[in-house]
Amino acid sequence: MLSEESQDSPKVHESPKVNESPKVHESPKVYESPKVHESPKVHDSPTVYESFDEMKLDDNLVRGIYSYGFEKPSKIQQIAIVPMSKHTDILAQSQSGTGKTGAFTIGSLSVVNPNIKSPQILIICPTRELSQQTTNVVTSLGHYMNVKVLSATGGNRLQNDISTLRSGVQCVVGTPGRIFDLIRRGDLSVEHMKYVILDEADQMLEDLFSDQIKAILDSNFPTSTRLALFSATMPPNVIEIAENYLNNPVRILLPPDEVTLKGIKQYYVELEREDWKLPVLLDLYQQIAVNQALIYVNKRQKAEWLAKQLSSHGFTLEYIHGEMEVGERKKRMDDFRSGSVRVLISTDLLARGIDVQQVSLVVNYELPTQRENYVHRIGRSGRYGKKGVAINLISGDEKNMLKDIEKHYSTTVDELPENLDVIGA
Ligand code: AMP
Repeated sequence: MLSEESQDSPKVHESPKVNESPKVHESPKVYESPKVHESPKVHDSPTVYESFDEMKLDDNLVRGIYSYGFEKPSKIQQIAIVPMSKHTDILAQSQSGTGKTGAFTIGSLSVVNPNIKSPQILIICPTRELSQQTTNVVTSLGHYMNVKVLSATGGNRLQNDISTLRSGVQCVVGTPGRIFDLIRRGDLSVEHMKYVILDEADQMLEDLFSDQIKAILDSNFPTSTRLALFSATMPPNVIEIAENYLNNPVRILLPPDEVTLKGIKQYYVELEREDWKLPVLLDLYQQIAVNQALIYVNKRQKAEWLAKQLSSHGFTLEYIHGEMEVGERKKRMDDFRSGSVRVLISTDLLARGIDVQQVSLVVNYELPTQRENYVHRIGRSGRYGKKGVAINLISGDEKNMLKDIEKHYSTTVDELPENLDVIGA
């Protein structure tokens, strides 16, 4: 969760210098109501590239792509990589698990000059976990280009980040607080920056991070620095904010009814009382043969409580939240990734971006307080076209919240059938 994550970040409000207008582009474009909400799909009629070979990318980058195991570009990669390789601003939306990270990583790597040993790509993520995951992707895809990557997040020793920067890195991936700190101190040079990328851009621009992001974007970037914004969700108010920062961007936006994933079956169990959720969950646990599952709650205390309850019934699982010590958080995440822990209880800290291919079931023990997070949470299953199942345990007002979600995303959430075999989780 943002508040959790930003606790150890420097408070940018206290810093003296926050310019009025972002300097990513010298003359920030005046927002002329882009009409994106009116037209259902704004693609600026993109050219589709069916293969990586057609994209005319550097040979070493293509080698990195194939050896990472990507054979064919995903839909978002087919339309977003080439505009980025031509060095344009981009505002791109694509459903969870459809290859956004690959899209912005390949797109930005395509404009990197490996001979310049200075940061040329800056990727900003909302959490350390996501930052680490993205660092691994950039490192692998950029391997044959000899691109060096730093993961700069709160919790690392600042001095280590500084030494790594001095050793010469071309890409920095990190969380807003640490990145701002490194720029402010002059340790992260923006002189050669080609791309600033905001992953989960709506969260970055809207929530607590917006001041930090603004301060970062106000840094002294060259006018040639381009901005790329990516997310699965882009609420209209965020698009408006984004337009202030973007300069003649390529826009790839989805209408709300295309945001949820078709491959994820969604169910609900309606309960008269909150405290009936636990026995239902215990029952589900025994009946569903899950590969790996994520159970979402809204607060840290609930995560701890639920973990205790389930453990006392003999289930092996872990929980994670943003107030946990960094090393512990990392260990639990690694255990979940490796499959040695099959069930993880989480707060919205891990709602976004986390990619564990084996997750086939997401349980919302509580519905998220923010509508967008519903999409991000259930998108942890059904990665890259796989099938997934989401089960919502609802009581009280959650019934209306779920109706609102169904309406907004034009999606259907069915009542969980008695015979769970049919849902195939
Ligand atoms: P993302 O939406 O970036 O989190 O990616 C979701 C998953 O899709 C990750 O496990 C990626 O490794 C995988 N993926 C992304 N692009 C491709 C591709 N072109 N071919 C195969 N897998 C991909």
